[in-house]
Amino acid sequence: MFEPDAESMPSEQRAELQEARLRILVDRLLALDGVQAERLRSAGIADGRGLGLDDLPRLPMTEKQDLWDAYPLRMLGVDRSEVVAFHGSSGTGGRPTLVGYTRADLRLWARMCARALAAAGAGPGSIIHNAYGYGLFTGGLGIHQGAIELGAAVVPASGGMTPRQVTLIRDLRPDILTCTPSYAIRLGEALADAGLRPGHGLALRAGIFGAEPWSPQLRARIEELLGLRALDIYGLSEVIGPGVAAECAEAADGLHVNEDHFLVEAVDPVTAAPVPDGTPGELVFSSLTREAVPLLRYRTGDIAALRRGTCVCGRTLVKMSRVTGRRDDMLVIRGVNLYPSEVERVLLEHTSLSTDYLLVLDERAAQPDLVALCEYRLDRGGPAGAEVEARLREVLGVRITVRLLPAGTVPRTEVGKAVRVVRWAGGEAPVPGLG
Ligand SMILES: [Zn+2]
Repeated sequence: MFEPDAESMPSEQRAELQEARLRILVDRLLALDGVQAERLRSAGIADGRGLGLDDLPRLPMTEKQDLWDAYPLRMLGVDRSEVVAFHGSSGTGGRPTLVGYTRADLRLWARMCARALAAAGAGPGSIIHNAYGYGLFTGGLGIHQGAIELGAAVVPASGGMTPRQVTLIRDLRPDILTCTPSYAIRLGEALADAGLRPGHGLALRAGIFGAEPWSPQLRARIEELLGLRALDIYGLSEVIGPGVAAECAEAADGLHVNEDHFLVEAVDPVTAAPVPDGTPGELVFSSLTREAVPLLRYRTGDIAALRRGTCVCGRTLVKMSRVTGRRDDMLVIRGVNLYPSEVERVLLEHTSLSTDYLLVLDERAAQPDLVALCEYRLDRGGPAGAEVEARLREVLGVRITVRLLPAGTVPRTEVGKAVRVVRWAGGEAPVPGLG
């Protein structure tokens, strides 16, 4: 563990720490006198004194709209001159989210990423091949600073330029790979084409994959292709970036949330009422110690379940399940609520299909249809469309049309998040040949 005192702290002691930090956060927000202060006063909170974790459900929430409304800098919790970096997401529909970091925020972020890397088995002496995109997106620079904090050597490969990445991996023999899960597949295939396979030229022991929801089936594919332990990491720039939560190599059955800094709740995505542990809900974070962006009860839109207890690795940090969907990505197909990751899980049961797929929500008729565009792998016996459709119907209870396409048809993403769902409301088909 990178910070064993914090990561394996007895839970009662941690709760006291969280409460003390929550009171400080509430007092800071009130002093800042912004939209969060306004909402706190409307909820009858005049100061942080006496507040405990049980009071959380009655405290006001924040959401992405607040950041958009305050764009670019009105949500800052410090003077502009104290900000030393900006990050954010490109956002959907060209609406960016922008967040600032103070020097202390960057140090905190580096430590959180160092925790994640250590949980995957990395340490001083490790070589970390970091193929997350460097730039405004938090993946690349977050892991980069975490690797240095840990004392490991980082290779800032960034996204794309796959042939150069293959050369770097062949020559430097890294033990840790970090990138999006979809790019791990792309890189693994390129490495295999270059004759680099598990036990033959590859020394990878673990990979930390995040920034996209991914299924256990995709994890199995990545582990087979690269011969490593594939672990999940979670984060968002509004909270800090990657390193909010990460899986440990010992259990790999959920992500330890660094809740001493990022207080987490799971709530009903519609009513916002707390859901019991073990029940999927929308994740809500309070950034207890972040200076530049102090957020109380920020709604992430990410759906996951929480689980408490001491892990086999010794960590007492609450675990979140992998993210099973996004509140906004929920598809409604003939009255059935469906998350894209549920479709992926069924598609990837079929080894004759490649991991590249695209879901097209065909909204041209009054009743939208879902079409799954899947690439088939000739080396695994080729297509079996009717079989896949039957299985989707059996598991998900809804009819999804499966279209099988030759390899290379589905658009690829080399940097950032893979696009898995597109809407087709009219006009030209989003992918040639569909129609
Ligand atoms: Zn663990």
